[in-house]
Amino acid sequence: GMGRVALGVALGCAVVTCAISAVMVAGRVRSRRRWRRVVRVLEELEEAAATAVGRLRQVVDAMAVEMHAGLASEGGSKLKMLLTFVDNLPNGSEKGTYYALDLGGTNFRVLRVQLRGQRSDNLEHTVDRQAIPQHLMTSTSKELFDFIASSLKKFVAEEENLSELSQVKRRELGFTFSFPVRQTSVSSGILIKWTKGFAIDDMVGRDVSECLSHAMSRGGLDMRVAALINDSVGTLALGHYHDEDTVAAVIIGTGTNACYLERADAIIKCQGLLTTSGGMVVNMEWGNFWSSHLPRTSYDTDLDADSPNPNDQGFEKMISGMYLGDIVRRVILRMSQESDIFGPTSSKLFVRFILRTPLMAEMHEDDSPDLRVVAKILRDTLEISDVPLKVRKLVVKICDVVTRRAARLAAAGIVGILKKIGRDGSGGITSARVKGGSQGKMRRTVVAIEGGLYTGYGMFREYLDAAVREILGEDVAQHVILKVMEDGSGIGAALLAASHSASSVDSVQLL
Ligand code: ADP
Ligand code: MG
Repeated sequence: GMGRVALGVALGCAVVTCAISAVMVAGRVRSRRRWRRVVRVLEELEEAAATAVGRLRQVVDAMAVEMHAGLASEGGSKLKMLLTFVDNLPNGSEKGTYYALDLGGTNFRVLRVQLRGQRSDNLEHTVDRQAIPQHLMTSTSKELFDFIASSLKKFVAEEENLSELSQVKRRELGFTFSFPVRQTSVSSGILIKWTKGFAIDDMVGRDVSECLSHAMSRGGLDMRVAALINDSVGTLALGHYHDEDTVAAVIIGTGTNACYLERADAIIKCQGLLTTSGGMVVNMEWGNFWSSHLPRTSYDTDLDADSPNPNDQGFEKMISGMYLGDIVRRVILRMSQESDIFGPTSSKLFVRFILRTPLMAEMHEDDSPDLRVVAKILRDTLEISDVPLKVRKLVVKICDVVTRRAARLAAAGIVGILKKIGRDGSGGITSARVKGGSQGKMRRTVVAIEGGLYTGYGMFREYLDAAVREILGEDVAQHVILKVMEDGSGIGAALLAASHSASSVDSVQLL
C-alpha cells in the first residue's frame, strides 16, 4: 500500500537528484573547459603581442637603422623618407590671412587662419569639420576634388561675408594631403599610393595640387596652392611656431606617420641638396615601417591579408585608429568560435570594422563596477547579449592588450627618431648636450603630437607617455616633451602657406 508508494517516490527522487547533480557537474566541467580555452586564446594573444622594454629597444634600433637606409638610397628601406621641400619652419613672424584644407583620414577640415606677424598662444582661426562621405573614398579623383573644392568655396564665402574685409590679394592655401606623395616642390607632388582605405586608381601618379587647382577653377574659386604637405609636417610646423625646440611630429589618428627635421647633408640619396637653413623636414611615412622585432599576432596577419593593401603599412596596421578595433573584433570572434562563452557566434562578429576604435576605447575605459558600457556595446554593436561579468572583464583585457602594444610601439618609433638625431641620450656629450653649454645639461627636445587616437583615448596616451619614459630612462626623459598640437595638421598648413606665399621666394635648390 502506502509504504511502497512512498518508498518508490523517495527512490525516484533520489535517482532524479543524482541525475541532476551529474548533469550539473558535467556542466561545470564543460564550462570550466570552455573557460580554459578562451583563457588560452587570451594568453596566446598576450604572448604574441608582448612589448617588454628589451623588445621595444630592438624596435628603436630598427627604426633608426631603417631611417638611415631610407635616406641613403631611393627604395633602400620600407621607410620612404620623403623630401618635403620644407626647409624653414614657422617662427611667429608670419603675417596675413591664409586658408587650409586637411584631407587624409576620417574627417575633412577646412580652416582659415589669421596671422598677426608675432607669435601668439591663441592663433586666431576657424575650423569646419565634416566626415568624408564614404563613397568618395573609392570613387574618382574628379568627384573627390569637386567635393573638396565646393566645401572650400562655401566656407570661403561664409568667412569673407562675416569678416567684411575686402580681398586685397589672391587667396592662398595650404593643402594637407596625408598620403605618400613624391614632392616636386613645396607646393606640388605626385601621389605614390593610397592608404587608410582610400582607393581612387586614376589619382595614383598624378599631381595632387593640380587636381585641386583644376577643381577650384571648375568651381569658380580663385585660390593658389602655396604649400602641399601632409599632416605630420603641418603638426611639426605648428609645434615649431609655438616652441622652437620642436624637432619632430607624430600623427596617431586614423593612420599614423611621423616627420622630423634632418640635416640636408644627411639626406645622402639627394646629393647636392641646398637649403638656406641647412636642414629639411623629412616625411618618414613610418606607417610602412617593418621589422622582424615587431610583435605580430595571427590577427595582424589576417587583418593584413583581408585589407585592400596587403603587405603594406604594417606598422600602421598595428598602431592606428583605423585598425585597433578590428583587431579586438578578430580576437572576440576567435574566442566565440572556440567556445560558447559569447553564446552562439553572432554574425556581426564577421563584419570587418564593425567595432570602431572609439567604441573599443569606451569599453576599455568603462569604470562602472558591473561593466555596463561593455555590456551595452557588445549588445548594440555586436549583437551579443547576456554576457556574464567574467566575460566582460575578458573583453576589457583584450582591449588593454591591443592598445598597450600599439601605444608602446608608437613610443618606440618616437625614441627611434630621437636616436637618429642624437637626442636619445645615448650619443654622449656632443650630440645631445647643449653645444658649449654646461656639461651634463641635455638639450630640451619637443615632439609635437596630433590625432584623435592620442588625444581622445586616455589609456593609449598614458601607455605611450609611460613607454617613452621607460625606454629613455628618467634622466633623459625629463628633457623630452610630448606636446599635443590640436588641429596642427591644418593650422600648420596655413602657417606654411604663409611662409611660402607668392611674395616669399623659394629657398630650396636642387643642384
Ligand atoms: P584623421 O585626421 O585621420 O581623420 P583624427 O585625428 O580626427 O583623424 O582621428 C580620428 C581617428 O582617431 C578615428 O578614426 C578613430 O580611429 C580615432 N579616435 C578618435 N577619437 C577616439 C577616441 N575617443 N578613442 C579612440 N579612438 C579615437
Ligand atoms: Mg588628421
